[in-house]
Amino acid sequence: MTILNGKEIAAEVLAECREKVEALQAGGITPGLAVVIVGDDPASHVYVNSKVRTCSELGIRSRKIELSAEATQEQVLQVVRDLNADESVHGILVQSPPPPQINESEIIDLIDPGKDVDGFHPINVGKLVVGDESGFVPCTPQGCVRILQSSGIETTGARAVVIGRSLLVGKPLASLLMNKGFNATVTVAHSRTRDLAAVCREADILIAAIGQPEFVTADFVREGAVVIDVGVNRVEDAGRKRGYRLVGDVAYEEVAARCSAITPVPGGVGQMTIAMLMSNTVKAAELRGS
Ligand code: NAP
Repeated sequence: MTILNGKEIAAEVLAECREKVEALQAGGITPGLAVVIVGDDPASHVYVNSKVRTCSELGIRSRKIELSAEATQEQVLQVVRDLNADESVHGILVQSPPPPQINESEIIDLIDPGKDVDGFHPINVGKLVVGDESGFVPCTPQGCVRILQSSGIETTGARAVVIGRSLLVGKPLASLLMNKGFNATVTVAHSRTRDLAAVCREADILIAAIGQPEFVTADFVREGAVVIDVGVNRVEDAGRKRGYRLVGDVAYEEVAARCSAITPVPGGVGQMTIAMLMSNTVKAAELRGS
């Protein structure tokens, strides 16, 4: 059984980004990422700070724009308009989730699709579906397929089952895997799927993006399958100083005993998401070429 090491693969992606940033800088272009955060959700601030820190390690110029928890929709829209017009900014992301008064989809629709490095704008969603590689693919699904590629796992002809149909993970992942290039035969399962365990046992590659701690048990997994665990869930743990530990959507120990390869949590898919964001930002700068 192989443990698919997201940390190592993310380091590989970041090294590629660093080389590309140097090449861009040699041509007079410094890639720039603007991160907009509305409100004071502590987890969102941790994510944003880690994005900003990774930018600075790679030579990407980053800008953090903080708006108060009371910011209006119009204020956020105006920030996005200004960033769309700013030539030094190649990538824009608005950290999710915003406070309840903010209509997130209206904000995403306003982002210039050429700067939409989260890949959520309908134009980029459409490009992914038609297989147009000039678009931006959401970072977490892109991280999942990069783990498969870097680990030499054959997707062509493989049966892939994705549990979860969110716009953030499940749907874009299913599109990626079925596109030419990956050529998998894809099934998307969700909360209304009948006999989910039997559907999952069909999979050569099983991907869980559910948000339920340790939901996928050994009886969901065919002997020798590859298992990618996207889930990040907090469960109480009095034995830990912080009072909780992180677990995935997969019951790791029992599934690891059945499968041929698995991503751990933490140390698997989670490591890849920021790396793919950096990769999308570099791509945005390369595509614009100024
Ligand atoms: P989400 O929007 O809540 O979607 C969850 C999906 O799982 C839905 O499609 C839902 O089905 C399905 N589902 C829920 N319970 C189910 C059940 N009992 N049986 C079958 N399907 C079930 O979540 P998400 O944003 O896609 O995130 C999924 C997980 O990935 C979360 O744990 C999240 O923390 C994690 N995540 C990790 C990263 C990372 O960087 N590692 C990034 C993003 C997300 P319905 O559509 O029928 O409700």
